Amino acid sequence: MNYHHIQPGTLEVFCGPMKSGKTREILYKLDKIKYLENCNFLFIKPKLDTRDTFIKSRFSDVSQHCEIVDENLPTDILPLITSDLDLLIIDEIQFFSKEITTIIETILKKGLHVIVAGLDTDFTGKGFGSVPELLTLATKVHKLSGICEYSGCSNSSIRTQRLINGKPAKINDPIVSIEGQNNTYESRCLIHHQID
Ligand SMILES: [Zn+2]
Repeated sequence: MNYHHIQPGTLEVFCGPMKSGKTREILYKLDKIKYLENCNFLFIKPKLDTRDTFIKSRFSDVSQHCEIVDENLPTDILPLITSDLDLLIIDEIQFFSKEITTIIETILKKGLHVIVAGLDTDFTGKGFGSVPELLTLATKVHKLSGICEYSGCSNSSIRTQRLINGKPAKINDPIVSIEGQNNTYESRCLIHHQID
């Protein structure tokens, strides 16, 4: 086993706003790791995201087959952790219910290297799901930023802007709302992040 890439019992977190390249970064990382001899990995994403069993980045053509787990039942991950696994990767970690932190701690104590990626803040700018708590468990944190999409700005973005029919969403709107026709998301800097 190459311990430069796989470190048993350690958690690595990739976090940032929408369009900051989180999925691209974990796919690139996995693209290198999967050629290591005897490295067994499992890639998971929440059901809510989509039922498509492939993970793709909006920024590249690299994709990876994954298992889908109900975000409200993170204990369903445990039976998937077979004794030959070295690496667990979970994308869109913010959607899993709070028990995910305990589940990940249990898996780390089994000696796996765990990599998670997700939004660190929701559209209101508050910590998203268990991501802030997971940062306290992490050995390595990759804090990513995008480019602010506000017209005329090109600052680094750290916030996710939700727009309903092109206007900033209200602070009391539901935290989880999948992108659709009237509901869109932009990557924004702090100055241009707006909540109604
Ligand atoms: Zn801006």
